[in-house]
Amino acid sequence: MFQQNDFVERIKGEVSLESYISRYVKLKKAGRRVVGLCPFHSEKSPSFSISPELNVYHCFGCGKSGDIFTFVQDYEKVDFRRSLEILADYSGIPLQSQSNKEDAQYKQRLFEINAKFLTYFQENLESAEGIQAREYLKKRGIDKTIIHKFELGYALPGFDNFSRSVVRTSEDVSLAQKLGLLKLSNSRGGGTYDFYRDRIMFPIKDTSGKILGFGGRLIRDSEEAKYINSPASPIYDKGKTFYGLYQAQNQIRKSRVAILVEGYLDVIGLHSKDIETAIAPLGTSLTNNQVRNIKSYADKIKLVFDGDKAGKSAAVRAAEICLKEGLPAEIVVLEDGKDPFDLSRTLSNAEISEILTKSFSHSEFLLQETLLHTHISSSPEEKRKAIENLFTFIKSLERETDQQMYLSEGAKQLGLSISSVLNDFKRGTGVTLDDRKVDIKKSGKTSEKGNTAGIVYSRKIVSILVLHPEFFSYIDQLLELDFEDGESAFFWEILYTKYMNSEPISLDILQEEGFPTEIRSVFMSYILELDDSEETEESRKNIFEEYLLLYKRANKQRELENLSTGVGVLDEKNRLSRLMSVRSEILQIDQKLRSLNYTNGRG
Ligand SMILES: [Zn+2]
Repeated sequence: MFQQNDFVERIKGEVSLESYISRYVKLKKAGRRVVGLCPFHSEKSPSFSISPELNVYHCFGCGKSGDIFTFVQDYEKVDFRRSLEILADYSGIPLQSQSNKEDAQYKQRLFEINAKFLTYFQENLESAEGIQAREYLKKRGIDKTIIHKFELGYALPGFDNFSRSVVRTSEDVSLAQKLGLLKLSNSRGGGTYDFYRDRIMFPIKDTSGKILGFGGRLIRDSEEAKYINSPASPIYDKGKTFYGLYQAQNQIRKSRVAILVEGYLDVIGLHSKDIETAIAPLGTSLTNNQVRNIKSYADKIKLVFDGDKAGKSAAVRAAEICLKEGLPAEIVVLEDGKDPFDLSRTLSNAEISEILTKSFSHSEFLLQETLLHTHISSSPEEKRKAIENLFTFIKSLERETDQQMYLSEGAKQLGLSISSVLNDFKRGTGVTLDDRKVDIKKSGKTSEKGNTAGIVYSRKIVSILVLHPEFFSYIDQLLELDFEDGESAFFWEILYTKYMNSEPISLDILQEEGFPTEIRSVFMSYILELDDSEETEESRKNIFEEYLLLYKRANKQRELENLSTGVGVLDEKNRLSRLMSVRSEILQIDQKLRSLNYTNGRG
């Protein structure tokens, strides 16, 4: 992998996408973009665009998009491996820049560095300086046996402990940097500083016990992220393994069931109560690769999630992945605000086991969530929404047997005839629900038109963040936005996770393995349009603030429309007072927008 990454980086840096594509497509300049007739669909006027600056392309006609590697794969109809060979031929950059032996030696060195750090962290925890960390663990009921089993350690406060105590040669420093243990400092004239400070350290191991990376949790209240994790490295691919799998593998193999929880402490908590099949994803949401991996240990997975909104939507996503990968899953939704670690502190093994038996099958759970908990006696409007949701969900399923199962179960639950729901689905038209005599046109269609402006601005905001991650300085405002648009919410979550883990944010994320092509296509069109405009740093800031306001305005506007048509649950008196207050909120936003345009010279 190491040499391949190096090769990919070199191609990106040295080969111009524009000149590569110009061999197949006649291109002409259009502002900052270069355009031509799309090689992937037939058209008379050019909608195929390239940004020479970002080295990406997007067709506004058919939606094909990506970087030079995607282009070669799509155009030559080859896989990624073959695209590397084609580009090696084209560019003259050798694909095998290092021998396999050197590569193996390099990885060996990285493992050694991680091992050295683990010993160091464990010594810190035992030392006089580790007293607060030991107190922290003791207060949370994490005893010596568990500390030993999970090899927990402690990173001291301060910025230069690592280079003083662990890595002294320049080679070791550079390896520690590759592993994310040391970071390059901007303010220290090219020096480095410790990435983990004043944190409990959790080593992340592969199933043979080699250390892939670390997670670190703050032991004091601070502005900093509560958890930070090692970035991906030549020896660490977060999308493939699990925290705790090293300790849990034998028990999982025996019972053929794995329990998936959200955090490191959840894993540790359950193990401390002798529930030794608990594992967790690594600071990311569950991936297809992880599910494929766990299938060789388990025949079933139990997904345990917090009952809050974030927990539930994570559970839905995880259940969908298990469904796609064909791994039977059960969902346990805990009481709101309680996580498995909390439970492990107050309950016995028997009591926790009892809670874990109260699970839904993932199909049952997905159906409930998709149908928004509607049932036979729900209102026609609620049912219509539920059916629309169900159709979107079913379209995402690959197997026809799954599609039919969800359609008929969904119909049954809503008390509708299976054949009419099936017909509606096949026609792909709106839902008629004839057998319930519902007149959709009357039942508040305007409110359900979808929040188009809201979708557009949420996507623009997320797109700016990819191009200019410095706008994460608006994190408080961003967290309030709560994107309704599925695509924006999906992409935002990836960016936010990277941000919290201090991982680099760039367009490369869209090209990462497993990133859905449809979503890449959606955002690439926004990104190219944003890249079109000549801006200064100041005007970019204004534009970003404007989008934040316009997004909020779009949501308020829709609430206003809903209130005006009387959709919702409020009684008349509350409806009117809410109407008034939403109106005045919109006026306030407009005022802010005007002053922004004024400073922007566009007023
Ligand atoms: Zn096209």
